[in-house]
Amino acid sequence: MLRSIVHLDADAFFASVEQAADARLRGKPIAVGGESRGIIASASYEARKFGIYTPMPTSRARKLCPKLIVLSGDYDRYEEFSHWMFSYAYDFTPDVERTSIDEGYFDVTANHKKSPVEIAEVIRKAISQRLKISVSEGVGSNKLISQIASKLNKPAAFLHVAPGKEIPFLHPLANKWLPGIGPKTSERLNSAGLAQIGHIAQTPVDMLELMLGSQARLIRQFAHGIDERPVVVSSEPQKSFSKQETFAEDVTDEDYIEAVLRAMADKLFSDVRQERRTVRTITVKLRYNDRDEGQCSESLREPTDLESDVYGLLRKLMTKAWTRRVSLRMASLKLSNIYDGRFRSELALEGNARNLQSRERLANTVDELRRNKGWNVILRGHDLRLREAPCDPVKEAPAPTRLHFKVQVRPPTTPTSFVPLRARSYYTFLDSTLSPSQLVATAKQHGLSSVALATVRYPVLEVEAKVEPFENGRGFSLRVMRAGKPRVKFTAESNSQ
Ligand SMILES: [Mg+2]
Repeated sequence: MLRSIVHLDADAFFASVEQAADARLRGKPIAVGGESRGIIASASYEARKFGIYTPMPTSRARKLCPKLIVLSGDYDRYEEFSHWMFSYAYDFTPDVERTSIDEGYFDVTANHKKSPVEIAEVIRKAISQRLKISVSEGVGSNKLISQIASKLNKPAAFLHVAPGKEIPFLHPLANKWLPGIGPKTSERLNSAGLAQIGHIAQTPVDMLELMLGSQARLIRQFAHGIDERPVVVSSEPQKSFSKQETFAEDVTDEDYIEAVLRAMADKLFSDVRQERRTVRTITVKLRYNDRDEGQCSESLREPTDLESDVYGLLRKLMTKAWTRRVSLRMASLKLSNIYDGRFRSELALEGNARNLQSRERLANTVDELRRNKGWNVILRGHDLRLREAPCDPVKEAPAPTRLHFKVQVRPPTTPTSFVPLRARSYYTFLDSTLSPSQLVATAKQHGLSSVALATVRYPVLEVEAKVEPFENGRGFSLRVMRAGKPRVKFTAESNSQ
């Protein structure tokens, strides 16, 4: 069936939103970015006239245009504008796929009330009049055609490629317009005499394979204007990168799970870089052994494409998501709020940017090594942790509701003294280095007559431990009773006499 797809791409999105939100910035050279990364993430078209492009070091941009207004960027606002922008499309079709903060496809095939061109026009005008931002749109029979059509003559471009006109539209274009052809591949194709899309279409697949590898067949199809990719409507507001791992056995080992999340981040960010994107929101979801779930998200100040920017955050999100002291069956990591383009610089001069640049270089090198030699050619610390099984796996559901510990305690020789025992409850499963019996033994060793166990950081199952003195007065039993609801309470009564 003949499809009608509209591709929408906002022009200089962040800068446009800033100008839309503050009339004083309109018509002026402005740029967004520059703070922590030392590079320009978006430049208004007025700024581009001075030769400013993204990504460019902020210091250089300021030299090119001393009057440049540099704003640090309000990503919450950009996401809000993005939401409003796409909401206009839903007036015409539910089939909306947001591929990044400022780009997306709408499948309007099923809308018979208006033509695809009319629909695209109405959306563009509404966005321009009400949101005061300019967008480019392409209309075509598939994603490939509509996307190229929208990007070919930015800004404020509007191009309809009529059905049947795909080949005359595509073939004269440079090869770089095809998905999957980056600058290096493009150069290789150029030197092989395949500078235009038409040349690729006429080249046999096996020849193309020499230059394009396994992608050859797909790219050749694209060159023929064929693109069967559907518009993917998801319940998510936009595309995300995610990964999950179900454990062979229920796990309680925090360090192990953190290592799992870090390893997931490595894979996901490598995909993010491959697609030349950045992400801003990180979500950790955990599934307990009873299938209940907990999750926690956080948005970074600026989008990133580096796993090293989020390593530290993963532990925090895991701890926040893990509200019940129950072992885990599954952990997942999701990267969302996708931005296009890499917020990075080729010529970093400032301190922050230089540090960032070295991490970027490392990430690129690791990516390349892994692409050529396999994923395991290079391992990080957490990969080594994953070679060993998690500590203290819970083999069976912890059954005991009552436990007895019989201990002998010497009568106190001095007024009651306490040794700070940094241990958590056995029943929290976490960070527990001593079991109650070991705790009591330690207390005994220090000549204490009573033991008080309390959780320090985490809410736990309500646990009560009651100390009952022996009749002969020379010891006590520790009776532990477990109640059902999670609550921070773990007490022991003393038998000190
Ligand atoms: Mg854009």
